[in-house]
Amino acid sequence: MLMMDEGKYKLNYVYAEDFGTGYFKYGPITLRDKPYMVQSRGLFLRDLPESIKLLVPREVLERGVVVGDEIPKYLSSIRDAIRNLRYPLKDGIIRREDEDSWKITKELARYGFSQFYSDFSRRSDFRGFFLVVALSALAPDYMRDRMIEIHKELDNEFGGKLLQAVTIIDQPFAVAIAEKAVTCTVIEAGHGNIQLVPISYGPIREGIVALNRGGSEANAVTREVLKDSGYGDLAKDEYVIEIVKRTAGLVSKNLDEAVKKAKENPDRFSIRIKINPLVEVELKDTAWMRFLIGEVVFNPRHELFTSYIQQGRLVIEDATVGDMVFYGEMDLAEALITSIRRVPVEIQDKIMSTIILSGGAFNWSVPPGLEDVAVNSVDKVRIMVSERLPDLANRLSISMVKDPQFSVWKGAIIYGYALPGNVKWNERTKEGWYYLH
Ligand code: ADP
Ligand code: MG
Repeated sequence: MLMMDEGKYKLNYVYAEDFGTGYFKYGPITLRDKPYMVQSRGLFLRDLPESIKLLVPREVLERGVVVGDEIPKYLSSIRDAIRNLRYPLKDGIIRREDEDSWKITKELARYGFSQFYSDFSRRSDFRGFFLVVALSALAPDYMRDRMIEIHKELDNEFGGKLLQAVTIIDQPFAVAIAEKAVTCTVIEAGHGNIQLVPISYGPIREGIVALNRGGSEANAVTREVLKDSGYGDLAKDEYVIEIVKRTAGLVSKNLDEAVKKAKENPDRFSIRIKINPLVEVELKDTAWMRFLIGEVVFNPRHELFTSYIQQGRLVIEDATVGDMVFYGEMDLAEALITSIRRVPVEIQDKIMSTIILSGGAFNWSVPPGLEDVAVNSVDKVRIMVSERLPDLANRLSISMVKDPQFSVWKGAIIYGYALPGNVKWNERTKEGWYYLH
């Protein structure tokens, strides 16, 4: 393909997939700023009653797993829904031998393509997508190889007309690209984990720090808040927890002061959350706990969490994946300082001059009237670092991306557009375009 044509072609036919632990974001460049998004999960149709099987399309039955909008249709018919509803990524990682999870991953990709393929395939100039797959910066090499395998298989199933080439990018690096930042530190806070990645024209591996927590720990705290507020039944419902977390969750300037103020004046912090016309949650005497929901993402070491952890109501622990440790309790300021310390001193200044926050677990806002006690994620990180190292805090410039859940996908699209078609896949560096035909 000629270089000039390539640019024109890619304006229509770059496609990106961001495999998050909580949500899969996907779609072609023509969506511009907003990818499609479904939960990263799949439902195995293993224990379907024969009567239901008759109603399920044969190809669906043969594949044996459904994803996205298809899940609610079948969920109530499956005998053992809890066991058969699976979340394939843990902390952004899929285990090598976890075939069920790979199957779901492939289904998610297929689900995405099938929403766009019929439109695109009708265009006379369509010769397959240039696909960019965004994976965790901690993803082991076998995951990159397997992703390529899966997409080869899918391309075959679409008659070899779906994909032209595939490449892979680290999620935090995609964020840096979306923000046009050459040298920076990206803190990506997703559902299952937080990645801190210093970047200078590319991720600096020695500086990567990973935390084994994210939005899902805020869910866990929300669950306990619901229980303590007399909503034991609703506390079992992940859907309710998610809404309560997003509506009620707060991040404090200073947890002790916020809790003190909230306990002194519960009315000011009380909140009613209408889940639907039938279900309503009210936090009144427990309104002070709203601050615990946000805090856990930033600092689960605070003593207010101790009793939850001791009672086993909240599990926050280190995890090891390969040779990488995901720290459970390390607070964000320490993680940031640790990460910066690990890069060569000569570039430390540059790395810290631009700190970029992204990911849905940073998506906290300050309700009007609570500005004296609540802050957004940018201010929280700044406050935490200045408590530790005031000198450092003065030099940090921290910002948050515009759409925290979408910036990885956006950056992956830009990368796919910019990476020249003649840069071929390099087996050792796992970079470049892997051509399928
Ligand atoms: P991942 O890439 O790991 O799937 P995302 O970046 O998509 O994660 O973010 C998903 C997480 O962000 C979930 O835990 C979700 O509950 C959380 N989240 C999204 N929006 C908000 C919000 N407004 N307030 C609090 N948490 C949010
Ligand atoms: Mg993510």
